[in-house]
Amino acid sequence: MKKLRLILGDQLNHNHSWFTTTNDKIIYLMAEMRQETDYVKHHVQKVAAFFAAMRNFAEELSEKGHNIAYIKITDDDAKKSLGELIKKHVAEIEAKKFEYQLPDEYRLDEQLKSICDGLEIETKAFGTEHFYTTRDELEAFFKGKKQLLMESFYRMMRKKHGIMVTNDQPEGGKWNFDQSNRKKWAGEPEIPHERGFRKDVSQILKEIEEAGVTTFGNISAENLSWPTSRSDCLSVLNHFCKELLVHFGDYQDAMHTEEKFLFHSRLSFAMNSKMLSPKEVIDKVLDYYYENKNNIHISQVEGFIRQVLGWREYMRGVYWKEMPQYAKLNELDNHYPLPDFFWTGKTKMNCLKHAIGQSLDEAYAHHIQRLMVIGNYALLTQIHPDQVDEWYLGVYIDAIEWVEITNTRGMSQFADGGIVATKPYVSSANYINKMGNYCKECSYSHTKKLGEGACPFNALYWNFLDEKKEHFKNNQRMGMMLNLLEKKDTEELQALKKRARQVLENPDSF
Ligand code: FAD
Ligand code: SF4
Repeated sequence: MKKLRLILGDQLNHNHSWFTTTNDKIIYLMAEMRQETDYVKHHVQKVAAFFAAMRNFAEELSEKGHNIAYIKITDDDAKKSLGELIKKHVAEIEAKKFEYQLPDEYRLDEQLKSICDGLEIETKAFGTEHFYTTRDELEAFFKGKKQLLMESFYRMMRKKHGIMVTNDQPEGGKWNFDQSNRKKWAGEPEIPHERGFRKDVSQILKEIEEAGVTTFGNISAENLSWPTSRSDCLSVLNHFCKELLVHFGDYQDAMHTEEKFLFHSRLSFAMNSKMLSPKEVIDKVLDYYYENKNNIHISQVEGFIRQVLGWREYMRGVYWKEMPQYAKLNELDNHYPLPDFFWTGKTKMNCLKHAIGQSLDEAYAHHIQRLMVIGNYALLTQIHPDQVDEWYLGVYIDAIEWVEITNTRGMSQFADGGIVATKPYVSSANYINKMGNYCKECSYSHTKKLGEGACPFNALYWNFLDEKKEHFKNNQRMGMMLNLLEKKDTEELQALKKRARQVLENPDSF
């Protein structure tokens, strides 16, 4: 009996049980599809990295003796919908069974369910064998509890998986070392040279262009710096453990004009495409830590584990609990359009110039750039969350809806009214100046609130609090901010609001 099995572009799990034995009667279908390149405009590096990783994966499976049917973006079949493609291949090989791995995106999950309903053969869905948790584990964990606090989920995960836990107690005496993750980087400690790659993807770029796929963003000399094979991914993980882990936690929130990556792992693409599993990443990090315990403080390691075991799994749980309505939430009624400079990086605001410019050049910005520079600005300028989401989903190498939307619409834009974050992540220029050196080289002054050269973030911040205060009146965590607003001199507040209005109405001129 012949079987058709589908492998989606973000299901490149080399260790999946599907691949433990070969079978002549199983055909694996992999496809570069217009359906996927076109549902949102993507960064050119993101499309190239996914295609390169998929092609490598297909080649490796093939070398191991599996049968692969691979559709390239230039093939006519790439224009077919997923349903049409599956039907065609089922008919071609006279398959009696169709199998797939559960997609991580709601859109594809629904599509595949409906495709299966329309097939006249037996169908079966498998897990991806990637995450620590099942889709609905978070929902079960929070059943009956008032708030979906990440911290309680994270502690449960530490205990359940025995990660840095002895007798149910956290190693180092604390569950969370977040307080020590807040150093500013000022030239020291030295940042090791990045583990990048110079992969010639000119052929893939040619094919993307030939197929007429519209992309944006830059790629330097047609070279891709992202890991696109299992061995590349393992080498990035190795580099992280050996060179970066030692300072990861300390400088997690730091920003610098000369250092785009600081001590960040840049493992998100490797994990989100499933070339690496979170368990092997965590196991490797822990092994390295225990072997080098005298040289690495627990806060560096805990900071990293919290992101992968905590935030990453938690966001996935929120996604499956809250979709599809989550994608429409706009709790703060924000409605302004995205400024043009999001697509060019051309603005006088130095922090945004760097964070957006880097996103366009590298398809990457680290967490604090995404949250406290770009996201902060988008929220303060009250941009419609649909437009913010679309930009984030397109621009980042690691952007897949389950982890993009929960971070963007939820954590960053507070459009979910507080499901993910207990208060909106907004700040004036003060925070940006505290965590980086952007303000030093800016045409605006971070200390000035009004008048020529005043940093737009300052007026925008007070205006946001004032315009949205009704939404926050019952939020205890906003109490201090609202008290300060209350005490603000009326004339000063009016002047701040006037300046904020100028920014809101003409963002590209600032
Ligand atoms: P590191 O700083 O080295 O962190 C290690 C790993 O922890 C990451 O690789 C990632 O897998 C995980 N992680 C860290 N923070 C988070 C988080 N908040 N949620 C989930 N996992 C996390 N991450 C994505 O993978 N895809 C996205 O589309 C995405 N969009 C984001 C949008 C916004 C507005 C914000 C604020 C954050 C977003 N993040 C997203 C989370 C985080 O910024 C990235 O995971 C991280 O920057 C990737 O770089 P890194 O691998 O160097 O991470
Ligand atoms: Fe950004 Fe304002 Fe600082 Fe300039 S002064 S870098 S605009 S926060």
